[in-house]
Amino acid sequence: MTAQPTADKQSKTEFNKLQKRLRRETGRAIADFNMIEEGDKVMVCLSGGKDSYTMLDILQNLQRSAPVSFELVAVNLDQKQPGFPEHILPDYLKQVGVPYHILERDTYSIVQEMVPEGKTTCGICSRLRRGTLYAFADQIGATKIALGHHRDDILETLFLNMFHGGKLKAMPPKLLSDSGTNILIRPLAYCREADIIRFAEQREYPIIPCNLCGSQDNLQRQSIKAMLRDWEKQHPGRIENIFRSIQNIAPSQLADRDQFDFLSMQATGIPLAPVSDGGEYSPMAQTTVNTWDPVEKD
Ligand code: SF4
Repeated sequence: MTAQPTADKQSKTEFNKLQKRLRRETGRAIADFNMIEEGDKVMVCLSGGKDSYTMLDILQNLQRSAPVSFELVAVNLDQKQPGFPEHILPDYLKQVGVPYHILERDTYSIVQEMVPEGKTTCGICSRLRRGTLYAFADQIGATKIALGHHRDDILETLFLNMFHGGKLKAMPPKLLSDSGTNILIRPLAYCREADIIRFAEQREYPIIPCNLCGSQDNLQRQSIKAMLRDWEKQHPGRIENIFRSIQNIAPSQLADRDQFDFLSMQATGIPLAPVSDGGEYSPMAQTTVNTWDPVEKD
């Protein structure tokens, strides 16, 4: 009789599969976009949420077997939100052996002063955070800045921009910062949020809650999240298809005149795709032409 695997063994196998998948997807994104090169110093932005812990964990894991050698340094910005547990990240980073810097800047007070009561604070707060982190990356000579956004963040941003900004744009896996001095990478770009949630639960990261600032959840993002979840439930695979579609765009089939030169289009007579040579399927086969022309001809 074959022995049944114990619950422990089963969950260990499940965990290994999950870890492998995250590792594989991250490695694939890194390779597809040439995110990390020989000698890079990668500054890993760590907020204390599930995504950034997972990113650091998987990058550390890949670092051990990657064909190129690169350095990891974790950076957290303590924004002085009330109740921010200052010891959690330093304790964790020492335990996993990653060098780190904790920056302190009271952006919380700046945001409170600048944003009228009841208005959403996330826009200005993240702009301030980004500014400080990117400037610090220059200071420490980081060649890449790694952010923990995953596939679902990218798709939510795509729909937010479409629905509220009238633009077809998402969040790229690799990006040059506005200042032109930093290269931002999103190594989790191919990873599903559901996998990250399960992984983070199993790893028991010391999560720092993201609502310390008292800000409400971004309601528009939440509603898009719910919309995508419902679609996926009704049509499994739809999210992956949408994600594939942003990697496979056809500017000539859209309507952006900056992306495709519609104005100077000319008929060349040269087929763009193979054309059937006729027979019963030729374009005019079995077609009756009825013509009426109001202009009488002699
Ligand atoms: S949730 Fe709070 S800390 Fe996070 S971006 Fe919004 S305002 Fe800033």
